[in-house]
Formats: sequence, structure tokens, C-alpha cells
Amino acid sequence: MKQVNQHNWHSLSIAEAEEKLSVSFRKGLSSEEVQQRLEKFGQNILTPKQQQNAFLRFLLQFHQPLIYILLIATVVTVILGEYLDAVVIFAVVFINAIIGYIQESKALKAIDALSKSMALHATVVRESNKQTIDARELVPGDVVLIQSGDKFPADLRLVQARDLKVDESALTGESVAVEKNTEPVAADVVLGDRFCLGFSSTTVTYGQGRGIVIATGDDTEVGKIQQSIASAEELQTPLTKKIKRFSQLLLWVILLLAAVVFGVGLWRGESAAEMFMVAVAMAVGTIPEGLPVAVTIMLAIGVSKMAKRRAITRKLVAVETLGSTNVICSDKTGTLTENQMTVQEIVAGNKAYTVSGLGYRPDGEIATASGFGVADDNAPLQYCLKAGMLCNDSALKQVDDRWIVEGDPTEGALIVSGRKAGLTEESLEQEYPRLDSIPFESEYQYMATLHGGSKNSIFMKGSVEAIMDRCDTWITADGEVAPIDRGQVQSEVHRMADKGLRVLAFAMAEASPDLEHIEHETVSRGMTFVGLQGMIDPPRQEAIEAVRLCQMAGIDVKMITGDHAITASTIAGQIGLKGRHENGKLVAIAGRELQTIDDEELENVVQTTSVFARVAPDQKLRLVKALQARGKIVAMTGDGVNDGPALKQANIGIAMGITGTEVAKDAADMVLTDDNFSSIEGAVEEGRGVFDNLTKFIVWTLPTNLGEGLVILAAIVLGTQLPVQPVQILWINMTTAVMLGLMLAFEPKEPGIMDRPPRPANEPILTYPLIMRTLLVGTLLLIAAFGLYLYERRVLGSTVSEGQTVATTVFVVLEAVYLLNCRSLVRPVREIGWFSNMWIYYGIAAMLFFQLLFIYTPFMNKLFHSSPIDLMSWMRILGAGAVLFAIVSLEKAIRYKYGK
Ligand code: ADP
Ligand code: MG
Repeated sequence: MKQVNQHNWHSLSIAEAEEKLSVSFRKGLSSEEVQQRLEKFGQNILTPKQQQNAFLRFLLQFHQPLIYILLIATVVTVILGEYLDAVVIFAVVFINAIIGYIQESKALKAIDALSKSMALHATVVRESNKQTIDARELVPGDVVLIQSGDKFPADLRLVQARDLKVDESALTGESVAVEKNTEPVAADVVLGDRFCLGFSSTTVTYGQGRGIVIATGDDTEVGKIQQSIASAEELQTPLTKKIKRFSQLLLWVILLLAAVVFGVGLWRGESAAEMFMVAVAMAVGTIPEGLPVAVTIMLAIGVSKMAKRRAITRKLVAVETLGSTNVICSDKTGTLTENQMTVQEIVAGNKAYTVSGLGYRPDGEIATASGFGVADDNAPLQYCLKAGMLCNDSALKQVDDRWIVEGDPTEGALIVSGRKAGLTEESLEQEYPRLDSIPFESEYQYMATLHGGSKNSIFMKGSVEAIMDRCDTWITADGEVAPIDRGQVQSEVHRMADKGLRVLAFAMAEASPDLEHIEHETVSRGMTFVGLQGMIDPPRQEAIEAVRLCQMAGIDVKMITGDHAITASTIAGQIGLKGRHENGKLVAIAGRELQTIDDEELENVVQTTSVFARVAPDQKLRLVKALQARGKIVAMTGDGVNDGPALKQANIGIAMGITGTEVAKDAADMVLTDDNFSSIEGAVEEGRGVFDNLTKFIVWTLPTNLGEGLVILAAIVLGTQLPVQPVQILWINMTTAVMLGLMLAFEPKEPGIMDRPPRPANEPILTYPLIMRTLLVGTLLLIAAFGLYLYERRVLGSTVSEGQTVATTVFVVLEAVYLLNCRSLVRPVREIGWFSNMWIYYGIAAMLFFQLLFIYTPFMNKLFHSSPIDLMSWMRILGAGAVLFAIVSLEKAIRYKYGK
């Protein structure tokens, strides 16, 4: 079945490879052949490596200090003959593990589903047609086109390679890019030296190529070494780690305390068995073991909330960091602007033209500024338009009544302007058949094509700087080639850029008849400038609003673009970026200037400047570092092959889902499915919301632990019986966390969430006011639980069991009440709306139901040593709840009014 893969593909010639795979690399496979091979070889997917065994993952739930304590407690209770207690404790441990396991699986699944939603695509040639397919549909023999930024979707025998450089570190660990070609090599060379092969999951860093699929799925080299690339998402973040460390520290402190209690008890003559149970109660009650899991779950909920705002989280940590982001560096084209290009002005032969019509519909007029029509023999204009259409890899298509561009919108606009003058792609292709091309790369900022026909010619388009550097002549108004007047061109460029137009320059040259290939070297000088085309790319309306929201939220927005400085500054002004102004315009710093600024000065410059133009990818990295040097938490967007390092360096790297390369997506923490700036703002909003809810959960949960610890300590100090037994403490902690605490995850974002500054990155979660509140509530719990226990026992003469039931119910009821307080950390509940989160009430209702079972069913009475209590006891407990609510509300109101 898998015999196809047994050849030494790297030592076969192209023709041999074609023969073995029965395919021609020019035509590709037919759809019947694809179907057959798909059946024979299966889908192009890696069988997931036996992910961490489910049973093992379940067992790991027991690998927690608290559980160890409980397991020991189980054994000891068995030895003491308290079989029922042993069963209850063990059941709790078991149920706890099941809940933990289910919740963890859910979180993992949610993240997994998201990463799968970003399927890899491949451009193939089938039946002589270029088409984009899901990479899972690839079969051996398929012909695949690849270019810089792509990830190899399968193992390929290369049949064409143009400056092809590949990063194979995913496979070989070698980080230096490998140059590929199509020549066979000796059969016995190692993987890294098989230069005519491209391997699945390695990435193209430069150039273009074409190859025939030789292996798919598990037959690929990656499949063979079983290196799972879709490595399981990391569920740990700095926050969960911090919390884990905190609980571990607490654990030792508490164990020490418990040991002391145990020793003192023995010395006072208590029985060892009793003192052991006290120590266990102490440990169980005070260790916030559920915290790390709860935090993970809440972060995972944040992941799905962000996905709804079209921001796909690739690393859990992004959710956490977004809340403290204070600088966003964004691309211009397509992110802040629509990427809907329309050519509006043309300059050719030193004459200015205007172009009418909007969008990609090729209906419109080209007129001179003075209103005259355009003569067909207007040579410079014709050349400028032809250059735009010939030096072009995109296509204009009509679908129903809509015109769409397949490829780059910039190039689409150039086809539209050419069509408006009556040119067609077909007739141009006849007159100037293309022989070779240098594709556009942001680094070089130009594209060039070589054409045959009656005589060979080169056409070129790109940024004004890139083109002007390579021209020394231009075409004058009467069609003559003459030395270029650079000043004149520059002033036209400035005039257009000032209006916010994106200006492209065009050039051409005659080429010698025997030229078959062009290199960067070929077009490095001696070109003839033929004109400029200026296109509008309007700002996205929603980006303007999003930028305003960010600024209100204390987040700086900076534009980092490859475009011209003046264009960038005008668009930035329209979008409402803030920053240093000069002569009424935002100051834009160009890449060339950046080169002359040293790192230290750059740190100052980046603070005040918000527009960076003609920026090369490696300069993005410098900018991020300079911002971070001043303690900024930076979110940075990127789409290109070379944006990887900057995306990794940024605190949050954001890749574009539509226009972004695979390399950029791999390096990013977050991917925008719509490439839209407003989705970043949305994600920040959600990130802040999630962090708020996390804080609320922690603030809600800690006082319980504190209260339980204090109650036990008080009992020891006063020498009374325990008001709550270990199994009862287990009951409280288990049920309330799930039914009450987690409901805070559904708390909607508070109003004004974007009106406050970002959270300082190094600020602890528990700020001073929150610590004070924790102490306050913990103390109130102590007073209420211990007070009512003593009242029951000493005043009313209730049984121990009744007293303990009352104390347990105090904890449950007061936590439910305090949950309402915790819905906002600062605002009174009525301000955020009593009923804005109905989950809170569903949770409370469920909790009360279970508490009634706990109190009034004989079965539970037996398991948890509880007994029925009367109405008056309930009234006292509810009264205590009301008092707690009033006190915390008052405390909040005072702080809210007088600041922190
Ligand atoms: P950005 O996305 O920030 O606008 P790019 O790196 O895409 O920047 O483009 C930088 C410059 O390169 C543009 O201002 C334009 O002059 C030129 N350019 C963009 N696209 C093309 C293209 N397809 N062919 C030739 N030149 C282009
Ligand atoms: Mg771009």
C-alpha cells in the first residue's frame, strides 16, 4: 500500500519522478486520479501521537498535595475504624478527580478545536488549473506551488525552484535556511542535504517553487519521526504557575501549623485520633487547591469569548497578557484600512490624470486635469497602465454582479485602471508573453517581469523609492526618453501622498533578445520611469472607533507600515492616532531614519512618535524591543515571512488570518480571522473582562479558606469541639467552588471596562484593598460560624451535630451572599444590574437545594454527621448573611467614594 515512498526520490531525475508518480508537473493530476489516490493513500494527516493517555491524565488528578493528605486521612480513618468517614473522604477525592478531569478535558478540547479551525491550505495544479485546496486533500503525485511564507503541506520532489530557501529546523533542528534546487543528489546523503526535496511542516523563507508530492500524512519524514507538530497546547500560564507556587508555599506553612496543633494537642492530653482529624480539617480547609484549575478554566472560557470576536488565541497566556497591554503596533494596509484599492490619480509623461469610478468595477473615465479626453496615442500613459497590468500576478473576476480580485488588492486596482482605458489582459498577454518574474517581497518593495514578443522588455512596479533608485531616464510628455527630473517626480508623489493616496511607481526597459531570466541584479539600474498611480485605501470605519476606544483605555496605538511616510501620516491622521505633530501633520519616521538612530535614542523616539513608515521587518523587532525597554507591554501585528522574530518578541504577537503567511501564524500568540484592527480592540476588551472575573473568583474564594482556618484555630485556642468536621469542610469547598464560584466566569464585562488604564503588568492580583477585604470577610465568617455554633450549643443546648450543621450552613449561605458582592470589585450590585448574570442565581438555587439535602435527608446526615435544624436557626443564618452583605457593600461604597 505505501510502496510509493520506498524510492530514493532525491536521487531520481525529475522525469523519473514524474514517471514513477504518473503525473506531469505542468498539468497535474486529473480529478479521477486524485480520487483514486485519496482512497489508496488516505488523507494527508498525521495520526495524532497517542496523546497523553486518558487514564494517565485521570491519575494525574490525584497528584496534588491536598489529595495526598486526603488519601492519608482515608487510611488513618480506616485504621481508627471510622469506616463511613473513610468512604466519604475517598468519595470526595474521587469525585474531585472526575470533575477536574472533565473540566481539564473541556478546556483542552476548546483550545484544540480552535487550532484545528486554522487549517493549512495548499495551492495545487490539477487538470492544468491552479486551485487552492485544503492540504488534507493532497495525494502523492499532486503538483504543489509554494512561495515564501508557506509551510510545506507534504513531502515534495522539487521540479522548479527560484531562490528557494527553506527553514528546516522543525525537522532537522538546523536553524540556518537551506537553499533548494531541482538537481538529484546521491542516494545516501542525509536528510538535510537532499536539496531537491521539500519536507512537510518546514517553512519557505524566501523565493518560490513547485514540487510533486512524494509522500503524505504518516509517510512524510515528519510523520516517520513521529514528531507531533500540533503539540498539545500549554495549559499553564505565568498566572497559574504563580498561583500554584503560592498554594504550595501555603501548603507547607499549613502543614507545619497542623503539626504544631497536633503536638500541642497531644501534650494537652487530647487523643491522637482527634488531633489528627483536627490537623486534617485545618489542611483541607485552608489550602486553596482548586484555584489553579479554576483559573485555567476561566482562561479557557476567555479563549472562546475572544474567538467570537474573531481573535483566535494560540497560547492561553495571551488571554492573560491582553489585560495589561498598553501599546498596540498595527499594520496599516488591510488592518487599519479597508484594503479596497481604487486608482484615482495617474501621473505619466509629466501630466496628471484623474480616474473616475469606485471599487473594482472596471467602469470609469481617465481624464486630464483640464478635462480633455485621453488620446490613444498618449504613449507615457499607455506604458504606465500596461506596466500595471503586465507586472501583475492577480486576476479580476466578475461573480454575479460583483467584481472581485483574486490575489493582491493593490494589483487588482491596477488591472481596473488599465481596463478603464480599454486595455485587456488577453491582448496584452498576446503582445507581451511573460518569460520570467521577480515576485513582490516587502523587503525589496518591487516586482519585475520579463516579457517576450516582438522584442524583449522588462516591466517593473513598486514603491517610489525602490523604482527611482533604479531609473535614470523617464518618458517625457512627447514620448521621448530623457534624463529624469527627480525633483519633479518627488513633488508629484508628495502631492498625492498628502491626500492619503498609496503611490506606486512604474518603470520599464528594453531587454536583450536572449535574456530568459531576470534577477534583482538585472533590474538594479538603467530603468526608464513611466509614471505613478495613486490609489485610495480608505480607513476602516470600525478601526477609527476601535482606536478611539483603545486611547480612552490608556493604550497607545502606533502604525507600522511599509508604505510611504506622507501617505502613512495622512491616513494615521484620518484614523485619529495621537502623537507628535509638525506643521499640522503627525510626524512619521521612515525606516531610513531609524537606521541612523541608536538604541538608546530610539527608546525616546518611540514614546512620542506613532507613525513608522517604510519599515523593514528587522526594524519591527527593534521597535518592539525599544518599547519594552521602557516597560511597555506590546501587542504587534505582522503578516510576512520576516515578521516572525518581532511577533515572538512582542508580548502579544498577532498574525493576520487572511493575508498572513504560515510562518507569521506559527510565531503568533493570536490570529485575527478578519485581519481587522477592531478585532484586536475586541480581544483586549475580552481579555480585561476575563482578568476581572478571575480576580473576582480569587477574591471570592480566599476568605472561605481563611474563615475555615480561623474557625479551627479558634476551636483549638478555646479548647472547644470543632464547629466543622473535616468531611463537612470538604463538603463546603467541593460544592461551593463548582456551583457558586465558577458562575463568576459568566459575569458580563463591566461598563467602562475600556475607560480605565491597563493593569500594570507587575501588579499583584490581590491589591491592598482586596487583601483588606479578604481579611474582613474571613473574620466575619469566623464570627458568624463560630458565634452561631456556640449559641446553638451553649444557649440553646443543641447537639454537636446540630451545631456543626448550623456552622456548615453559615459558610454555604454566607458564601452565596458574598458571591453577589463579588460580582463587581468596586461597584455596588445595583449598578451592574441585579439580573445581568442569571447564572449566579441558578448556581445559588442549586447550592441551596444540595444544602437542603445535606441537612434534611437521613442518608446525607449519616455521611456528613449532619442533622436537621429548625426555622429559627435558618433565620439567624440568613440574618448573618444580610449583615455580611451590608458590611461588604458599605466597605465597597466607602472605597469607591474616597478612592483606594
Ligand atoms: P503595508 O502592508 O504596510 O502597506 P507593504 O510592505 O505591503 O506595506 O508594501 C510596501 C510598499 O511596497 C507599498 O507602499 C508599495 O509601494 C509597494 N508594494 C506593495 N504591494 C506591491 C506589489 N504587489 N507590487 C509592487 N509593489 C508593491
Ligand atoms: Mg502589506
